[in-house]
Amino acid sequence: MLMTADAYRESLRSLSPRVFIDGEAVASVADEPRLAPGINAVGITYDYAHRPEHAAIMTARQSTSGALVNRMTHIDEGAADLLDKLEAVRLVCRASGCAQRYLAHDVLNGLYQATHRADATHGTDYHQRFLSWMHAVQDRDLALGIAMTDAKGDRSKRPGRQTRRDVYVHIAERRPDGIVLRGTKAIVTGAPYMHEFVVLPCRTHTAEDADFAVCCAVPVDAPGVTIVARPAGRPGEAAAKFSATYGQTTAVVIFDDVFVPHDRIFLAGEHEEAGFLTTAYATHHRHTCIGARAGFGDLLIGAGALMIEANGLDPDRHGHIRDAMVDLITITEGFYACGVAASTYCTQDPVGSVTPDVVFSNIGKLLLATKIYDMHRLAHQVSGGLIVALPGPDEDHNPETHASLAAVLGGRDDIPAAQRLAVSRLIEDLTVSHQAGWYSVISLHGGGSPEAMKREIWRHYPVREKADLVQTLLDRGVLDDTRPGSRQPGRCCARGCTEPQRLADAAE
Ligand SMILES: Cc1cc2nc3c(=O)[nH]c(=O)nc-3n(C[C@H](O)[C@H](O)[C@H](O)COP(=O)(O)OP(=O)(O)OC[C@H]3O[C@@H](n4cnc5c(N)ncnc54)[C@H](O)[C@@H]3O)c2cc1C
Repeated sequence: MLMTADAYRESLRSLSPRVFIDGEAVASVADEPRLAPGINAVGITYDYAHRPEHAAIMTARQSTSGALVNRMTHIDEGAADLLDKLEAVRLVCRASGCAQRYLAHDVLNGLYQATHRADATHGTDYHQRFLSWMHAVQDRDLALGIAMTDAKGDRSKRPGRQTRRDVYVHIAERRPDGIVLRGTKAIVTGAPYMHEFVVLPCRTHTAEDADFAVCCAVPVDAPGVTIVARPAGRPGEAAAKFSATYGQTTAVVIFDDVFVPHDRIFLAGEHEEAGFLTTAYATHHRHTCIGARAGFGDLLIGAGALMIEANGLDPDRHGHIRDAMVDLITITEGFYACGVAASTYCTQDPVGSVTPDVVFSNIGKLLLATKIYDMHRLAHQVSGGLIVALPGPDEDHNPETHASLAAVLGGRDDIPAAQRLAVSRLIEDLTVSHQAGWYSVISLHGGGSPEAMKREIWRHYPVREKADLVQTLLDRGVLDDTRPGSRQPGRCCARGCTEPQRLADAAE
């Protein structure tokens, strides 16, 4: 059953996670004002699935069960699914800044492929276990937190070589009825207001570190789980035009001897398939990040246009203003186009689902990661200094100053000063505040730091093919090259015949 945002908020009352914010215990996540913007943002993914105008992209039919599911929990079966997901994520993120729940889609798709692969190699029954659990997640329309990034300790050492073993989540004990988890995941988006966590490794592991190659589902209120979170967005701040309503929390999640029964374990020591899972998740996630940050780009483009208008300027008459807006559009639609290309040139996994093209997914994510700072700069450029200089909103109600401030801080005569000030505060919120910093850093590091993308692009791009091409031209001349043209990096045909390869250390 597809929940509404209200039903989702109410569903959180049935859980009692151990949550701390700023050193205080949180009694009720659903009622905690410091988490409300995060719950509102996730709520968009629920409400939009009920809107007739969005239903085509926000919902999908899960072929393994026949059920109608939220797009954020669907398994992609073709390029059309990937394109719909991209559109759906852009839609919910332009409304909420970051709707967070799309990470569930990425981990479900990675696990769908990795569990099938593990069973084919080891004769295990992980895929069936996973399917049963996934169908329950889809039927109950749950929100999943992705607990992948370990605390990691000394980055130069593998997990088994760390002084403190608990900097990576690992299997502390194997029991006849399940496993016991210990360790710390350092950054989990939305943790307090998720229903369950999916624990998965953040890097490839060797046989020696097999106990770190673990993947399983854990309810957020399982005994032994502690969530140490930050406030979501800028709750209660009058100047926070957007992020007082919509925001995101991240949390450190500590697993202190957490028991996980067999039916919730999807990998437990199969280190090669765990490495495949890490990479498969990363590819799905980087593709999804493209949609998310394009939604953020939409907000900046719209806010920039309103600010220009309120300032009384016309991009058609003022070339430098038009250029800045065109740069903003080019960045946003440039990385989004990589997402479209990655969807179009997807590959089919042996289990039947599809993976977006690795090269285009990673290029898109790399572009948004590095260009986010240019996006902020361009929004600043067209807006002027008011976005950081505007007195606080309480001045709006100060009888001694209000009238005169409105008079002098207005722009075009036919646009009320209040409108100009509101857009100014919105741009401050999205590009200058600490919440703006969140958007920068999640773009840069979320889904893997730039080096992780660069490694993937270098590993998959057919540089040799290009070198051979030039060698052929040098040796024989242009007209003697009879090889078929390649339509896309590494692709032998439009459908793609190459099975996705196991990749090492892709997420980090
Ligand atoms: C806002 C936000 C939300 C996030 N949400 C989630 C989430 O929901 N779930 C989740 O699992 N993760 C999440 N992440 C984590 C994200 O995936 C990581 O931040 C990212 O993978 C980088 O890891 P790190 O932060 O530990 O940085 P580090 O690994 O410490 O990297 C810092 C720098 O050091 C470099 N580096 C690291 N190790 C090495 C090495 N061995 N050799 C050479 N260079 C190295 C990196 O390339 C990078 O430049 C989120 C991150 C952010 C910022």
